[in-house]
Amino acid sequence: MSDIIQLLPDSVANQIAAGEVIQRPASVVKELVENALDAGATEITVHLKDAGRTFIKIADNGCGMSPTDARMAFERHATSKISSANDLFCIRTMGFRGEALASIAAIAEVELRTKRKEDEVGTMIVITGSEVRLQEPVACADGTSITVKNLFFNVPARRKFLKSNTTELKHSINEIQRVSLPNPEIRFSFYHNNSLLYDLTKNNFRRRIVDIFGKTINQSLVPVEEKTSLVSITGFTGQPKYARKTMGEQFFFVNRRFMRHPYFHKAVMQAYEKLLPADAFPSYFLCLDIDPADIDINVHPTKTEIKFENETALWQILHASVRESLGKHNVVPSIDFDQSGSIDIPVLGKNNTQVRFPEITVNPDYNPFEQEKKQSYGGFRPAEQNNGAGNSDDNMSMLWPDPEPFLRSGREEQMVISAESFTGKKCLQLKQKYILTPVKSGLMIIDQRRAHERILFEKFMEVLKTDSVASQQQLFPQTIELDAGDAELLRSIIDDLLALGFDIREFGKNTFIVNGTPGLLNVSSPEIIVEKLLEEYKNSPVDARSKAREQVAISLAKASAMNYGTELKPGEIDHLIDNLFACSMPNFSPDGKKIVTIMPIGDIEKTFNK
Ligand code: ADP
Ligand code: MG
Repeated sequence: MSDIIQLLPDSVANQIAAGEVIQRPASVVKELVENALDAGATEITVHLKDAGRTFIKIADNGCGMSPTDARMAFERHATSKISSANDLFCIRTMGFRGEALASIAAIAEVELRTKRKEDEVGTMIVITGSEVRLQEPVACADGTSITVKNLFFNVPARRKFLKSNTTELKHSINEIQRVSLPNPEIRFSFYHNNSLLYDLTKNNFRRRIVDIFGKTINQSLVPVEEKTSLVSITGFTGQPKYARKTMGEQFFFVNRRFMRHPYFHKAVMQAYEKLLPADAFPSYFLCLDIDPADIDINVHPTKTEIKFENETALWQILHASVRESLGKHNVVPSIDFDQSGSIDIPVLGKNNTQVRFPEITVNPDYNPFEQEKKQSYGGFRPAEQNNGAGNSDDNMSMLWPDPEPFLRSGREEQMVISAESFTGKKCLQLKQKYILTPVKSGLMIIDQRRAHERILFEKFMEVLKTDSVASQQQLFPQTIELDAGDAELLRSIIDDLLALGFDIREFGKNTFIVNGTPGLLNVSSPEIIVEKLLEEYKNSPVDARSKAREQVAISLAKASAMNYGTELKPGEIDHLIDNLFACSMPNFSPDGKKIVTIMPIGDIEKTFNK
């Protein structure tokens, strides 16, 4: 028998390759628009008819091609973008595989017109099913325009596989969004059946997002900005209150290339933890700029999957920067106090712009017994009171440094709200429910109970992270009798309660004995706390219970937080506020409710018709 292996003709090989790169009209749109971007175009126009089945035309004002290059462009593996394997590690262009034009020409009727600025005339090439039908000089504008007609004319199986026009058009719209979002300085026009769907003029990123998704998204956008030696992240993330029940607009771009990345998606979603109900999705538009040597784009022909060298570090940076932005722009105090750098970005940190708290310098020579009288001050000592007896002033100012230098040295905006910003004088309790205090931009109102829930929750989470549990032994152990359902529930979380500092165990049928309670809490009646805790836990959303530990901590925080109607002394208010703003998420209670709000001075003025 004679040899049977033979090389496939190019047209067949191209058709097979096309199967990977071109699945539907939207793939053509993507590939051709990416080519236009790589050609340095500043204006790109896309026309589709019948959702791209019969007609796709993409025109750009980019660099154009010489007659020889125009012909070469349709060869498989013909590219101007890389020339050696090493180039694969410094890719800044969208394309580099040299497959798209060859693939498209294998399965459609393609007409190319292209002209470089420096040339008198351009070139026209017509190719159908990989066969060049015509190549001739033509008068045309600078740049390139490619028309793709009757896609899959020679691959009926593919044609049948296409979905309805609405679905196919949606795919193309998605592609247009993905390429136009990270390139806001480029003008895009997108027509379907001659009607203009998008006219995206040159703009900044925020405006581009608004031009695509509508004005209402604008108010929800929180800027994200982080620069480390590994990556720089810019873009926007949606405020939790605008999150939707369906997957929102969620975009990652890496060096201006759209990417899917479920692992990084989690980094963003986790930054929203406790700010969102479990079934809501925030929008985000995050652009990562990273050294091309640290990524591998060549995982899949469509290049939407990207491998990263430092995935874990990136995860953390991404997570922290989104969280920081949410903190900074949701947390009301940061409207008054710029907290840039206040969250530690793990790994490859930042240029030392961490928040500095006022420092207290202690004078080792200071003898407290000489100054007994003055020790009663519990905070910064007001300057006018600094004229006490003897020559103690110097010593006193060492212990209680004047906060003024911070303000004078321009550090004011870096100071996180601390005890000294909230003196008893400035804070007021309203209806034993709210704490009011003036801040730069108006009047800050804090919900005291929710604040307390947040503080307790974060402390409990801290306890859960460490192994050292402080438990307060009860003088008289309490027994609690529960109905079967509650007993079962308590049994299911008893380990978490032990980890939180409860000393509790089952003691006969549906009866439990509590010997100790968490040291953090001052519990006088453990049975009430446990009952309340079970009540809260029962009312938590079922899917949130999968993270039982956290849910137990939330329930316990809610069960043990002070009730409305609790009167607070000035010192207690200070303490509460200090602790609140030491929390990582001071603006929302552990179950996502608002803690702090500011009534802007402008609104106050308005009520007085000023
Ligand atoms: P790749 O983009 O991976 O290089 P393509 O098959 O998409 O492969 O394109 C082949 C080559 O044709 C490109 O490398 C580029 O030199 C040229 N080319 C394609 N489209 C354009 C365009 N719109 N303007 C200028 N040159 C283009
Ligand atoms: Mg290309």
